[in-house]
Amino acid sequence: MVKFLDLHKINNRFRDELEASFSKSLEDSYYILGNNVSNFENEFAEFCGAKFCIGTANGLDALTLILKGYIQLGKLKKGDKIIVPANTFIATILSVLHADLVPVLVEPDPNTYNISIDSIKENLKDAKAIIMVHLYGQLCAIEGLQDIAKKHNLLLIEDAAQAHGAISEYNGSRAGNLSHAAAFSFYPSKNLGALGDGGAVTTNDGELTEVIKLLRNYGSIKKYTNKIIGFNSRLDDMQAAFLNIKLKALDNDNNKRRAIAKAYINGITNPKIKLPFYNGSQNHVFYAFAIEVEDRQGFTKFLELHKIEWLIHYPIPPHKQVALDAFSSLILPITEKIHKRIVSLPMSPVMTKNDVQRVIVVLNLY
Ligand SMILES: *Cc1c(COP(=O)(O)O)cnc(C)c1O
Repeated sequence: MVKFLDLHKINNRFRDELEASFSKSLEDSYYILGNNVSNFENEFAEFCGAKFCIGTANGLDALTLILKGYIQLGKLKKGDKIIVPANTFIATILSVLHADLVPVLVEPDPNTYNISIDSIKENLKDAKAIIMVHLYGQLCAIEGLQDIAKKHNLLLIEDAAQAHGAISEYNGSRAGNLSHAAAFSFYPSKNLGALGDGGAVTTNDGELTEVIKLLRNYGSIKKYTNKIIGFNSRLDDMQAAFLNIKLKALDNDNNKRRAIAKAYINGITNPKIKLPFYNGSQNHVFYAFAIEVEDRQGFTKFLELHKIEWLIHYPIPPHKQVALDAFSSLILPITEKIHKRIVSLPMSPVMTKNDVQRVIVVLNLY
């Protein structure tokens, strides 16, 4: 059996340190917004090259609090249009709706699966911001996005939930430091994953940082003094301690993912399989290695027969979800085609050489 993602094996590498930090938290008994959160915020900001990091309860909240923060600062207002990729995990779009803003769904580039600059240009009317998603861990076309944002005076936001550690070829900056504000998720399966939920915002904007710190904690910096109508969306202190341990391994883990991706790309020669676009640089951290096939049902049955686990990121596009019925009449053929054909292969920093070889052999047999 080749596992899709062996979370036990991933986290067990850090067992001694994780247990020690749990013991310390139990001794200290300081559970909410303690030193572990501020230490992690400092470390992660530095890692990303951003001035500030604010821990949040999860990735969806990180995105939502960025948007709510801009509303609080008067840079966005209720009903403003926000350009988002149609081809994304639903959270990106939900954050816009939760902030009482209007998502404008645009098509991806069929080669990289990331938001297409041309389709953004066709949808600029009245737009106030763009949320880019570094899908599957591959950075978006930063240069083009930064140009458009500057030219049209738009806020540029990153959904970096799948791209921890990716480095731009264009300017050498990391995900989290390529826009006005970035949202990360530390959901357990992400490249930097907690042992539960977690998220963070990174930014160089001090004003936005202060507002998000208020928003995540009942509108309060000082206990029982509430300045604005806030939420409860704090990064858990123990998760922050775990994340600080795992952050030290992130670059190395991403290198392993890239090495596996290169082995797949060199090894899989089956013409029935469309391999992902990858330019060989550090701009991709392979949260997912997604291929396209014509007959997905037949292909996934074949993988099951050969005991290779798989997943689909994602089987139904957001605008075809029952929850987003209001968007169901949109015509987005590129997004729909990708969602019908895509399959993710096993990918993680703990795969063995044998696992990788086995996947290659089986895919070439298909
Ligand atoms: C995981 C993910 C999120 C949401 O993160 P949660 O921590 O689960 O809330 C948002 N956007 C993308 C692209 C994701 O992959």
